[in-house]
Amino acid sequence: MNEKHREENTVLRSMDSSGTFRVFLGDLTKMVEELRQINDSTPTATAVLGRTAAAASLMGMMQQDDSDRLTLTISGGGPAGKITAVATGSGNVKAYMTNPTVDLPLNEKGKLNVGGAVGTDGFITVVRDMGMGDPYVGQCPLVSGEIAEDVTKYFSASEQQSTAVALGVLVDVDYSVKEAGGLIVQVLPDPAEDVLRELEAKIGKLKSLTALMEESEDIYDLHKKIFGGIPMKIETKTHPELKCDCSRERMERALISIGKKDLKEIIDEDGEAELVCHFCRSHYRFTKEELEKLLVQI
Ligand SMILES: [Zn+2]
Repeated sequence: MNEKHREENTVLRSMDSSGTFRVFLGDLTKMVEELRQINDSTPTATAVLGRTAAAASLMGMMQQDDSDRLTLTISGGGPAGKITAVATGSGNVKAYMTNPTVDLPLNEKGKLNVGGAVGTDGFITVVRDMGMGDPYVGQCPLVSGEIAEDVTKYFSASEQQSTAVALGVLVDVDYSVKEAGGLIVQVLPDPAEDVLRELEAKIGKLKSLTALMEESEDIYDLHKKIFGGIPMKIETKTHPELKCDCSRERMERALISIGKKDLKEIIDEDGEAELVCHFCRSHYRFTKEELEKLLVQI
């Protein structure tokens, strides 16, 4: 991993001074490297999972409250399986994919074959849960399985939002994550036409996000490399993290939810239970006595 990213993930929220567009720009190298280590993922899988987690983190930050939950699911029928990332309002993320060992040859452009691993026979689904009432669910068919294009399409089709999305994961020769980040640019109502034209020209000839990250000193420098020339106002700088919300209590509830008959069967046949969180891979062990205590609660 590049030295400059070791400390923390960083996301800048900004807006141009005419109020034409808003920006979420994140260096999420640390987050994606942690995901790689937890999943022991192949480079292709690291790119799949990292792009999805980066998108979810930035989309999560578009929510009103920190307690709001955004769940991004990509399911395209490819060998990567299903990819799920859950983000809070502050951009903290937990993420997993069915098959982190998926490995494909590079695509015709010499890049990690994310689209081939994800597939295009399926949907991108976004669930926004504000903690009360029914959650909002938006879904649209996958375009390429490359994730950034799919998220862009999702915003235009499901939320009628004109959005540009770039997601990048650069894997080093030792398979660690060298650079990973995301950029979401959203056009706001009543845009200034000249600013919009300038923005489109800039976005149109933008290099890959990870190439720009490699050339940048820090997130401010990266922001300047992308939007330099357009008057911009940075609103917030935050530090989202890879963070799981699993707990022993949750695992107890999961054991209780399987029902009296099945729990009794585990006690009689195995005499103990071990549950693994599929997001962070934490192990939770339950002894026979502990399981029997749960059994009387059903
Ligand atoms: Zn967990």
